[in-house]
Amino acid sequence: MYQTNFINSNDRLFMKVRPFVGKYSVKCADFYEQIENLQKKKMNAQWKYRPLNSEIEITNCCNQSCPHCGMAANGLGGIKYTDKELIDFVNQLYDNGIPSYSITGGEPFIEFPNMLKMIQASKGKVDVCKITSNGFWGEQPQQCFDALVEAGILENSFFVPCLMISVGEQVTPMEHTCNIFHYAIQNFSKTELTLCISSLSEYGSKSKIEEFLSVYHKLFGSFPENRVFLTENFYRNSKSIQKNASSVAGRNVAKYMEGPVRCFEPTIGKYVLPRMLVKADGSVSTCACFNPPEKLRIGNIKIESIKEVLEKINGNSYVNIIAEDGLHNFKKWIDIGKCASIPCNNECEACQYLIEEYEQLFR
Ligand code: SF4
Ligand code: SF4
Repeated sequence: MYQTNFINSNDRLFMKVRPFVGKYSVKCADFYEQIENLQKKKMNAQWKYRPLNSEIEITNCCNQSCPHCGMAANGLGGIKYTDKELIDFVNQLYDNGIPSYSITGGEPFIEFPNMLKMIQASKGKVDVCKITSNGFWGEQPQQCFDALVEAGILENSFFVPCLMISVGEQVTPMEHTCNIFHYAIQNFSKTELTLCISSLSEYGSKSKIEEFLSVYHKLFGSFPENRVFLTENFYRNSKSIQKNASSVAGRNVAKYMEGPVRCFEPTIGKYVLPRMLVKADGSVSTCACFNPPEKLRIGNIKIESIKEVLEKINGNSYVNIIAEDGLHNFKKWIDIGKCASIPCNNECEACQYLIEEYEQLFR
């Protein structure tokens, strides 16, 4: 069974800070010290929210239309950043001490020339931590890999860059996805490029990983599962997960308040946290998770600088409550007994509930 051999990104062990073994590994042992020194020079030392990464939707257009798209992609008629805006974004990250960014969409490879310009502009300044794609470019992937290398994808200072290909509901021919992995496995070492396959799908539907492995085997022989991270999960905006998972015993707001996740503490491994999400329309959320609470959507880089956005985030009461002691900290104001009776599916839904309750109290 594939689950036994893949490096499973869902493994609870990866919740721990394990910088050299996670999906997001780092290149140097003194990573935390180096970033701390960098941020000391460029950020207000009093700030509790100091992102290690900013994920940016360089476009919300996509050439596919997955039924439960977690990225709210908008066909081919959506919006995108210009090359100038992307280069400005990179320079602002650098000026403000945010050491890395991740590229997502929509489908970012439909904006490949802009992506390359952005990566070129990052050399020696900011790392490219992760690129997520549906792999539509996989018929002959060498050209794209060559262009990425030429642009400087292997020249990061802190992070091993990660390429994540999604196969959940995507319609990319599996042969093309296999070509991408085969090429990357043959040409890049673990310390040059982390590889990840993501199979997000509708709750209850069949995972595409078996199909991927079977096609790979037919085309290229055995698949080195210990070279590739697997993220296998369900779309959080799926109606059936909401219906089914909420009834699972023990999933309630109080439970998630106990959880180990300190969302704004520096973490490397399964995640890079804190991670700021910048949407295609410029709006910024404090967390690059699915459906962050509306109240944690703070600022917009189309109308203000990243410095101003960071100032706003650090002045936000919810950010400060969560930064101090995780969701647990809401216990000071909100009845834990009531929280235990509110079903929810994940910590971010719990977070949304707690923020709304807090809002009611102080309205
Ligand atoms: S490929 Fe990704 S961005 Fe495009 S529709 Fe599917 S899930 Fe959304
Ligand atoms: S629980 Fe709240 S603060 Fe933590 S990642 Fe989710 S939305 Fe962000």
